[in-house]
Amino acid sequence: MPSCIFCGETKVTKEHIWGKWAQKYLPATNEDQLKRYPHQINIINKHGQFEVGKGVFDNVGDPLSKTTKVVCNTCNNEWGSSIENDMEDAFSSIFVRHKLESNANRSTAIIRWLFQKNCLHERACPIPFNPIAPRKWKDTLEKERLQRWKSFRERNEPPKGYKFFMGLSGPRTGIGHNFVFRLKDKPAFDHNEADNMLTSCLLFLGTMQSVITNDEGVIKRLNNMPLKSKTAPIAELVFDQPFILNKVMWRREEFEDAVLSAIDQPEHKLRRNYKK
Ligand SMILES: [Zn+2]
Repeated sequence: MPSCIFCGETKVTKEHIWGKWAQKYLPATNEDQLKRYPHQINIINKHGQFEVGKGVFDNVGDPLSKTTKVVCNTCNNEWGSSIENDMEDAFSSIFVRHKLESNANRSTAIIRWLFQKNCLHERACPIPFNPIAPRKWKDTLEKERLQRWKSFRERNEPPKGYKFFMGLSGPRTGIGHNFVFRLKDKPAFDHNEADNMLTSCLLFLGTMQSVITNDEGVIKRLNNMPLKSKTAPIAELVFDQPFILNKVMWRREEFEDAVLSAIDQPEHKLRRNYKK
């Protein structure tokens, strides 16, 4: 029986992954509304190979109708709702009214929303099973992330080590997410294993694109963008500090590729070639 990932309460309720407000800005097409798929995720089987497994999200099809049952009523309707309300204000100001300059409160609101989504997506992904890792290793990781989700709820502030980036995407828009992880030094099960789990959560909503990550490779890559033009297509958001987004749009595919290639290509080549 799942319990609330934020407070441990054993009675959980159905929660929309994306706040309902998002439907105002991205109404689903009739076709999308009819789609219903099971949520599928990549898992590693006991032979160490990738295979498709069942995820925890429901109503997958139109992303906005996607729900999950891992949060209790209070965390969903009180704490969660205030996070969604603040984010709706920020989203409509930046991505609908195109005010790219934001104050410290707005930055804090966006970071809370991003990290809350990061927790839900992290919960949806099982810790990778490694056949040679001791059971203790998996338990440590599980305990560590549960601790992190709870401490976020208590302090209303994301833990240290996570960075938040945001920018404008184009021309392709829409809604989407991608949660990827890797182990820092594998296999290293003999020291503080929990520190070894690096995750990156990419979120797309309309022309908003963002990533929440504790992966130094990804952070370095994004801090060094752009390589050629003068202005960075992605801005780092810092808790309680104002920020300015660049009006330069970064193609969604290219942004996604920059993050993924920082993870799997140490020499930092992009996976695909892009014509400027
Ligand atoms: Zn709760």
